[in-house]
Amino acid sequence: MARKKILIIHTGGTFVMESNEQGFLKPGDYAFDYIEKTIPSFFDAEIVQSKLINIDSSLFRPTHWVMIAEHINEHYDKYDGFVVIHGTDTMSYTASALSLMLKNLGKPIIMTGSQLPLINRRSDAFMNLIEAVEVAIDGGLNEVAVLFNHTVFRGNRTKKKDAWDFDAFYSPNYNSLIKFGIGMDKKTHRHLPKKPGVFEIDTRLNEHVVIIPFYPGIDFSNFSIMVRKQKVKGIVIEAYGSGNIPSDNPGLEELFKDAAANEVPIAVCSQSPIGKVNLGLYEVATKAAFYGLISAMDMTREATLVKLMVALGRYRSINKIKQFMTESIVGEKESEHVR
Ligand code: ASP
Repeated sequence: MARKKILIIHTGGTFVMESNEQGFLKPGDYAFDYIEKTIPSFFDAEIVQSKLINIDSSLFRPTHWVMIAEHINEHYDKYDGFVVIHGTDTMSYTASALSLMLKNLGKPIIMTGSQLPLINRRSDAFMNLIEAVEVAIDGGLNEVAVLFNHTVFRGNRTKKKDAWDFDAFYSPNYNSLIKFGIGMDKKTHRHLPKKPGVFEIDTRLNEHVVIIPFYPGIDFSNFSIMVRKQKVKGIVIEAYGSGNIPSDNPGLEELFKDAAANEVPIAVCSQSPIGKVNLGLYEVATKAAFYGLISAMDMTREATLVKLMVALGRYRSINKIKQFMTESIVGEKESEHVR
């Protein structure tokens, strides 16, 4: 069998950072050479690197997602798999975006990062990268995944859960795809099957989406103004528990009416990461169903936000947007048929 070719794409994050004069962490330039000197010797594969972006992932905007998607597209035919080094803070957003932008993916895209910079003597960076490359070579994945702390998750299912522990990510509603111990345990029944179509990218999106986290006493009037002034094209509500909302709040009903009048779709996800939204359970949720809000079911807030941006970029008709949001496109949610 021919030696596999893997492209490691740099985008920044703690992984490549070093301390500046004031002692603050900022992206450095040393990681590329360090990886060049070390990583290839561990694999019987051709490992190539490319420097695409070098920033803290908190500075990421949707344009950076597009840059990564275009870079992968440009190199897609030349490589068997891709590893993306990325900051942990917004890795789940980027993973969600890439999973939707890279259509009919037939190769692994493994995102990883670290809690400590590569030059730190206790760093998790080296092992995360080693395992990410191993998964890219031999994991059998055809999807965008996040590797952290010996575990591979479907990228659009992940959340950063810990700012301190090496076990920084989890996937609240979908179990891991691969687990490393002394070997690589592939949970193949959870892997996304390869789609039959030809690989292509679709990077259209509309950034004008807001997330409204609900809390007792929330005032909805400013959101209504934003909708009426057409400053907002889509809304993600972070509701309580199984999708419950303060349904006796007149401001909320006003917001729903304004959104309907302006064809602004509203998706409902939950503040409780584990479990799924069910708008047919409590009386307080029925208003959401009455106004045609979209249940995000078990999608993370990250995936819900990105998916709504993508839906708005691709479709004009509110029905098409609802259908796209309701279907599972790349395993980001449990499937449900639109009624
Ligand atoms: N602020 C860093 C980033 O997201 C955190 C990390 O990489 O762990 O780029």
